[in-house]
Amino acid sequence: MDYFKRLFVVAFAISALALVVAFVAGRRAVMSQPAEEVLWRESIAQLKALGDHKYRQSIHYIAYAKYAARDSLNAEAALFHAMSHADAVHCANCRKALEGLGGRASTPTITRTLFSSTADHLHHAHEDRHHTHTHLLPPAIAQSLADGNRYIARMLTWCDASDVKQMILLSRLRSQQPLPNTYRVCPTCGDIGWEEVAPRHCPHCMTDSAKFLRFHYPAEE
Ligand SMILES: [Zn+2]
Repeated sequence: MDYFKRLFVVAFAISALALVVAFVAGRRAVMSQPAEEVLWRESIAQLKALGDHKYRQSIHYIAYAKYAARDSLNAEAALFHAMSHADAVHCANCRKALEGLGGRASTPTITRTLFSSTADHLHHAHEDRHHTHTHLLPPAIAQSLADGNRYIARMLTWCDASDVKQMILLSRLRSQQPLPNTYRVCPTCGDIGWEEVAPRHCPHCMTDSAKFLRFHYPAEE
């Protein structure tokens, strides 16, 4: 009888010890897993900064479009309106990406739009696109590639391609080259097109061109 009692006590002690070891090991494993937000901290901060910037610029550009339209500067008005929509697309893409990484998007503080002349607005917009192209996007694209996140890298390269096109168009307008007063914007990647004949699909994201948004000045009925 004593033998079975001792056997029972030993078996109970071994089981209890195994439970304690399993609990401690499980707890250590959970504690060693970094939270998603910590893991992607750099990318989340970059996407938030870029998304907030695009949000603000989208508001400024729609105001610039109205200002240019008031002076019958139709090519400038159409381009600013298209740029405003492209920035809204880029902002939405940044927010979607950062929420996918565990971050949280919030509405940024809005800075007041400062008006001077449409020529100055073209100059400021060109400087801003240049800053985004040379300072904001390269580290964000490099970080997403280093993280192995090609989805975000692709979304950011769409943004960069659109910004570079905008710089070219702004430069032409600033040097008073004639430009069309109609632009199309892809609702998925924010690509801007101005050719008379649109490709059947967006060359970057393959969105059907039937979904492109058209911006024309003077505004059509
Ligand atoms: Zn596209």
